Amino acid sequence: MRPLIPDYLADVLSSCAEDDSGALATYIPELARADPNRFGVALSTVDGAVYCTGDSDTEFTIQSISKPFVYALALQDRGFDAVLDKIDVEPSGDPYNELSLEGSTGRPLNPMINAGALATHALIEPDGDVQARVERIVSGLSAFAGRELTIDEAAFESEVGTAYRNRALANMLRSYDNLVFEPLDVVRGYTRQCSVLVTTRDLAVMAATLANGGVSPVTGEHVISPRIVRQVLSVMTTCGMYDSAGDWLSTVGIPAKSGVSGGILGVLPGQSGLATFSPRLDGHGNSVRGVRAFERFSDQMGLHLMEVAPPARGVIRAEREVRMADGGLADVFSLQGAIRFAGAERVVRTLAEDTHLAPHVVFDVTYVFSVNRVAGAMLREVAQRIIADGHIVTIVDPEEILSITPDGGPLRLTRTVTEALGNKV
Ligand code: GLU
Repeated sequence: MRPLIPDYLADVLSSCAEDDSGALATYIPELARADPNRFGVALSTVDGAVYCTGDSDTEFTIQSISKPFVYALALQDRGFDAVLDKIDVEPSGDPYNELSLEGSTGRPLNPMINAGALATHALIEPDGDVQARVERIVSGLSAFAGRELTIDEAAFESEVGTAYRNRALANMLRSYDNLVFEPLDVVRGYTRQCSVLVTTRDLAVMAATLANGGVSPVTGEHVISPRIVRQVLSVMTTCGMYDSAGDWLSTVGIPAKSGVSGGILGVLPGQSGLATFSPRLDGHGNSVRGVRAFERFSDQMGLHLMEVAPPARGVIRAEREVRMADGGLADVFSLQGAIRFAGAERVVRTLAEDTHLAPHVVFDVTYVFSVNRVAGAMLREVAQRIIADGHIVTIVDPEEILSITPDGGPLRLTRTVTEALGNKV
């Protein structure tokens, strides 16, 4: 069979390529020289399948798309308190290079605007050593991309020579004691961070690493923890698309980050990473074709985060009363799928409403493939409460997904329902 996803991506690419509106960023001289017609699209699944189409192996500078990843590294190096103490997480609604800091604390409003990104850059270990900090960032970004990335020296020189605005921001941070280093050193380091070369394929893999809870789908490396992923995705959701973050969230609904060189990366938690590259930008600084492509992905693939998930009703697959080998009666509840709070609540409610529960209760979780922390705790508590009411409870859990330890008494664990009912297997 001819694979389906590349055809779909190629279809999105060709329909969005018709739009040649927008303009190249010119404030960085090197970006003004980009080929405006380049267009790449890539998708990486969380299990490492990467689909690409168009100019997806063309290298360009990562620019602002580095910000969420360096924020992740700062959280990892310094911990949440130290980072939040320096940089807030409030959307600003202002352009990315706005000269603004929170009035009372002098903190940048968030790590996605330049003021916040400069402060974030300066938090990367090791202290004070400009070169080592950049090396740590390049190797961190490489871990996200699953390959060794390099810096475009020409782009760096081109930007750093005219980075007057960023110098002003760094000086302002320094004046509020938010920066302990020489402002110009921080601007140079940050500009090197923005000059790291990536392809659309790399961006899709970086996005998929976040989608996969911080584990690279291509190398298997644990790059950052799930708790840091959650923080980064939250900030991307509220602040990732310059001053059109609200519009983006309502129309596309995917945590994303875009950069002035024309890249956009989007994360579908638990599913995949998506990326586009096309250098012509709209008035907010987002790639025109990239925004169009993401709008199509979101609509056609049903990817909007706020798309309401199917109700948890289906968690109880079957409920039946059966006769056991010793003649006693058992109520067997077969559960299925992914159980989270709402699914577990359904189980709790069904049992609470059952006034004629048999002396023996069997929970069969053979077809349950995941139970989150709260649902696991609720189901274990249900078992204990039923036991307290005088019943015997058997959990059929061949994969030990519920982590129940049998107590040698009324709480039992088996691998099959047949065994639970006292028949030989
Ligand atoms: N290096 C660019 C700057 O600091 C990044 C801007 C962007 O991609 O939004 O101005």
